[in-house]
Amino acid sequence: MSRLASQAARLTIDLGALADNWRKLNALNAPGLAGAVIKADAYGLGIEKAAPALHKAGCRSFFVAHLSEGVRARAALPDGEIFVLNGLAAGDLAAYRAHRLAPVLGTMSEITAWKAYRDEEPEAERAALHVDTGMNRLGLRPEAFRDLLAAGEIPWDDLSLVMSHFVSSEVPDDMMTARQIGVFGELATLIEKARASIPELSTSNQPLRLSLCNSSGHFTAAAGRYPLSRPGYALYGGNPTPGRKNPMRAVVRLEAPVIQITPVPAGETVGYNSNFRATRDSLIATLSCGYADGYPRNAGAKPDRAGGYAIIAGRECPFAGNVSMDLITVDITRLPRGSVKIGDFATLIGDGLDIDRVGEAARTIGYEILTNLGRRYERVYVDQA
Ligand SMILES: *Cc1c(COP(=O)(O)O)cnc(C)c1O
Repeated sequence: MSRLASQAARLTIDLGALADNWRKLNALNAPGLAGAVIKADAYGLGIEKAAPALHKAGCRSFFVAHLSEGVRARAALPDGEIFVLNGLAAGDLAAYRAHRLAPVLGTMSEITAWKAYRDEEPEAERAALHVDTGMNRLGLRPEAFRDLLAAGEIPWDDLSLVMSHFVSSEVPDDMMTARQIGVFGELATLIEKARASIPELSTSNQPLRLSLCNSSGHFTAAAGRYPLSRPGYALYGGNPTPGRKNPMRAVVRLEAPVIQITPVPAGETVGYNSNFRATRDSLIATLSCGYADGYPRNAGAKPDRAGGYAIIAGRECPFAGNVSMDLITVDITRLPRGSVKIGDFATLIGDGLDIDRVGEAARTIGYEILTNLGRRYERVYVDQA
């Protein structure tokens, strides 16, 4: 390792595990296909590395949130479709065309704008249409969609996908999931009928696909499987089945070097605001990683609540006090004497200390741990079969 990097925490991203996770989800969605959600810089892992690895595994349908992410994704992907979830803003049309991107339309005015644009630029991509079945966030309400359908006002030639998004698919037997599957299923039937009654469509070679499942949906919502799924979190090693064994391979590993080992006499405190007080003569390892690296400050330990953990010399050791900007202090008192030395790496994510547990320790979810992964880490991409 270069000397300059010697105080940086090391983030190792396993593109082989990422590809494996996609293959697993793709098999689960058979006979349909799995796409890949690569918004937010592929959940913090790096879109320029993640997108080609997924493409190589066979993925051809990608979803980003912003147009700017779509532009980056297209630069990394020679082919395959790229959908922009947050939709079409005025003035964006030419950029969609130039980078071969497809907007996910969610309002009548977006639908009208894209149709008008494609009338002029027939080579522009066909769009996706988002129908909101319960999130009340993005997309047409089902009744608005039904009205358009009944009026024959859905521009089928301009659409390649109709999709909706689950509210809480990670919760098994959630009533909301069942309701959303029901609503989407009814719409699917209506769509099929409406399209069957348009003779030109049956002869066109432009099929329409439907899409409902995110990561957890692959495991909890068998009835919600459609020709294209949209997993994100599970691709990156997050547990799509919270509370049960994680069926995915771990993709990220975060290790930070021990840069000092400090004996702390009983009664003294550690860190800002003295949130850790030594109840006996203690030994504190200081790690070169902090909230400026994206490690959550909320994982700090307080007198009345445990915080996060680091694996040092093979054992899980609790944080001692606050997570600070560049440093984390860890109580290694119970480790055998001499088992840690300066320069050793402590594991902050990995070896069973997965992103879901880190999220829990920080009172958030693993998604936020991933998307906050910092830019100061030494990033190492590996490809483990
Ligand atoms: C983020 C997102 C996904 C992916 O969800 P995961 O829970 O990460 O699998 C799928 N669809 C839409 C519309 C999203 O916004």
